Amino acid sequence: MIGFFGRGWAAALCFAMMWAEVLRAVSSASGVEAIIATSTLLTPDKARARVDTLRREIAHHDELYYKKSAPEISDAAYDRLKRELAALEKGFPAAATGDSPSDSLGDDRTGAFPLYRHRERMLSLDKSYSEADLRGFYARLTKQLGRADLVYVVEPKFDGLAVSVTYQKGKLVRAVTRGNGLEGDDVTANARTIRALPRELRATAPDGSANPLPDVIELRGEIYLPLAEFTRINREREAAGEATFAHPRNLAAGTLKQLDPREVAERKLAIVFYGWGACAPITALPATQREFHARVRAWGLPGLENFSTARTADEIWSAVQAFDRSRPQLAFPVDGAVVKLDSVPLRNEVGATEHAPRWAMAYKFSPDRAETQLLAITVQVGRTGLLTPVAELAPVRLAGSTIARASLHNRAEIARSDIRVGDFVYVEKAGEIIPAIVGVNVARRSATSHVFVFPTQCPACQTAVVQASAEVAVRCPNIDCPAQLTRRFQHFVSDAAVDIEGFGPALIDTLVVRGRIKTIPDLYRLRLEDLLALNGVAAKSADRLLAALDRSKHVELWRVIYGLGLPQIGSVSAKALARKFGNLDALVVARPEDFPATLRATTIAGVVAYFKEPKNRAVVTDLLALGVQPTAPVATSTIFAGKIFVLTGTLPNLTRAQAEGKILAAGGKVSGSVSRKTDYVLAGEGSGAKLEAARTLGVAVIEETRLLEMLEEN
Ligand SMILES: [Zn+2]
Repeated sequence: MIGFFGRGWAAALCFAMMWAEVLRAVSSASGVEAIIATSTLLTPDKARARVDTLRREIAHHDELYYKKSAPEISDAAYDRLKRELAALEKGFPAAATGDSPSDSLGDDRTGAFPLYRHRERMLSLDKSYSEADLRGFYARLTKQLGRADLVYVVEPKFDGLAVSVTYQKGKLVRAVTRGNGLEGDDVTANARTIRALPRELRATAPDGSANPLPDVIELRGEIYLPLAEFTRINREREAAGEATFAHPRNLAAGTLKQLDPREVAERKLAIVFYGWGACAPITALPATQREFHARVRAWGLPGLENFSTARTADEIWSAVQAFDRSRPQLAFPVDGAVVKLDSVPLRNEVGATEHAPRWAMAYKFSPDRAETQLLAITVQVGRTGLLTPVAELAPVRLAGSTIARASLHNRAEIARSDIRVGDFVYVEKAGEIIPAIVGVNVARRSATSHVFVFPTQCPACQTAVVQASAEVAVRCPNIDCPAQLTRRFQHFVSDAAVDIEGFGPALIDTLVVRGRIKTIPDLYRLRLEDLLALNGVAAKSADRLLAALDRSKHVELWRVIYGLGLPQIGSVSAKALARKFGNLDALVVARPEDFPATLRATTIAGVVAYFKEPKNRAVVTDLLALGVQPTAPVATSTIFAGKIFVLTGTLPNLTRAQAEGKILAAGGKVSGSVSRKTDYVLAGEGSGAKLEAARTLGVAVIEETRLLEMLEEN
C-alpha cells in the first residue's frame, strides 16, 4: 500500500482500487499505474461519502495551487484525485449532485486585484497521459471531420500561469489571468514589468511588408519563469538562509500575484504566446496555427520557436516524445506538449465542450520518479538564522543525475507529512531542477520508526529557537551563532558576491571556529602568520590567499553591497544601490528619500535600520579603513540618454555584451527589435532582417567605429 503526503491518501487509493474498472473507462491504465482491479463494489452511500471527500480535497488543493501558488501535492497526484472523482461521478450520478470541481477549470482569482471579464471565454485544455489517449484524440477528429488529411501542430506546454493580453490598435491595454475562465485578475501593471512584452505591436514586418493590426485582439499565452532565473533566485535565497522555492511555476504565479509591481520587476518573468481569444475585425484572424505563430513573431511578440507539424498519429506521438526527450536542454519549464488542429475553419467545425476545445489535446509528461531511503534529516542554519531541514538520501539516479539530498522545507512540512528517518520515499524532480520528496512508501516503514522531532535548540549554538507568529520559519536568534557567521562569510566570499578565491567552506569554518574572523573586516586583518598557523595551509597557498584578499579590495561596488548581506538585498537591488549611491559612505548615511525608486518601502526601511546599528556602520568604516575601495559603476554619461539601440550582426572588435555595456553605461537602451522608436541600429557583419527593417523605417544605421566615435566625442 502506498501512502502519499496529505490527508486521506491511503483511503483514496483503497477506494480507487475498487473503482479501477470505472477509472479505466475514462482514463488510461498507465495514468493509474498504482491501482489494481478488484471485484469489490462500492455502495451508493460510500460512493457519496467518497465523492464529498474528494471534492473537499480537490477544493483544498485548488485553493493552494491557484490562489496561494503553494501546492502540497504533485501535479500527477492532483490529476489522479480529479480522475477518481470523475470516475465516481460517472459511475454514481445520484451521488454526484451539485457543482463538481472535476470539470471546473480551476480558479486563480485572489480577490486582491480588480476583476476583468474576458471578451471571449478562456478555456482549459483536455489532458491525456498516454499514447493511447493521444491516438484516441486523433481518431476522434479524423472521424468527426470525415477526412484523413488533417494537419496538426505540436507545441511545448509551458509550465506557468495562463494570461490573456489585450492589444487595442496595436497598443497593450490589459493583461488578465485566466481566473475562472470568464473573468480573471487584472495584472496589467505587473505584466508590464516583463521586458519581452512590447507595449506596442509592430505594424511593419521586419521585411518591410505591412503587418496588419486588428482593432482589438486578446492574445493567449503563458507567463513563466526561465529556469536560469529560477536558479538565480533560489541560489540567492539559499545564500541568504531563506527557504527556496520548489517549482518555477509556483514562483512565477506567486510573483505575478504580488501587489507591488516593483517586487515583480525584481524577478525576470517571461511570456510566450500560443493562441488567441476575441479578435475584431474577425477577418484579421489567422487561418492556421502556423500562420498565427508567424504573425506573433512579425508583431514583435515572444512566440513559440520550436513547434512541429504532424500529419499522422505516429508523427504526433513521435513529436511529443521528441519534446519529452529535449526537456533537459530547454531553458524554460515545460510539463507536456499540446497537439492542435492547424486549420482554424476546421476548428470551428468541431467546436468546444463546456471547458475545453475539441481540437486540442494536452499531453502531460510523467515526472521522473525514484524510490530511495531517507538516511537522516539534518537541520542547517542559514545566514539569517533560518533553520532548514534537509533530507539525506541513499544516492539514487533520477533524470540523469544522482540525488542524495532534498529540501524538506520547514518544521511544519515534516510534521504534516510525518516523514521519518529510515522511511523509503519517492523522489521527483520538480521543475526539472530541485528534487522533492513527494511521498512515503508506508508499506516499507519499519515498525520501530518514530516521528521526527524537530530540534528546539539551534544545532550550532544550542540557543533556543524562535518562531515568529506569522510565519512557519523557525530561527536561531543568536546573532553570534557560529553557523550564521560561517554562512555570512561564505556569502561574502562567494563568486556571486565579492568572489575571493581560495576561501572555501572548510577554511572559513576553521577561521570562524578558531575565532580568527568575527566580522567581515577581520578577513582583511588576516596576516601571513595567521594563515600559516592553520593546518594544511602551506606558505605558497597562504600567499595566494593574501593576494586574493588584496585583489578583492577593488571589486565592483555592487558585489560588496550584496556581500554584506543587507536585509532583503539581492544582487539586483545591490546593483540598483550601487548605481544610485556610487560609494559605500553615501549608502550608509542615505535617507529613505535618497533610495532608488525601484526598491520597496519595506526594503528601504530595512537597509536604513540596518545602518542605524553602530555595529553595522562600523563594518563599513573598518572595510574602508582597511583599504577596501570598490569601484563605482562605470562612470555614466548621459550622451545616449533616452536613445534606443538595436544590435545586429557580428561587430569587428566588440562582443555584443561589450557593445551593450557601453551603450547602457552611456544611458542608452538596447532593444531586441527595430521599430519607429529605434534611434540607431548598430550593424555588423551578417546583418539581416533588422538592417532591412531599419532602412524601411528610416532608422539611422551605424557601425562599430561610429559608436566608439560618438562615445569619445563626449
Ligand atoms: Zn545558532
